[in-house]
Amino acid sequence: MSASRRGYTSEYRRNRAVVLADAPACTLCRRRPATTADHIVPLSKGGTNQLSNLRPACGPCNYGRGNRGYHR
Ligand SMILES: [Zn+2]
Repeated sequence: MSASRRGYTSEYRRNRAVVLADAPACTLCRRRPATTADHIVPLSKGGTNQLSNLRPACGPCNYGRGNRGYHR
């Protein structure tokens, strides 16, 4: 749990607002509205909080993927 929170900085929050304003639908399931910004490359893998590494995702898609890293 603590690892998934590390790196969620003010830069992340600022860029998340930009990402959500630009594309309100989740890019993973394309069904639910996006409420979070998913890291394309996880922070634990060296990803950043820059806009180029963020995409809009709904909570279930983002957290289901983010907490455990890759499923397989
Ligand atoms: Zn989704």
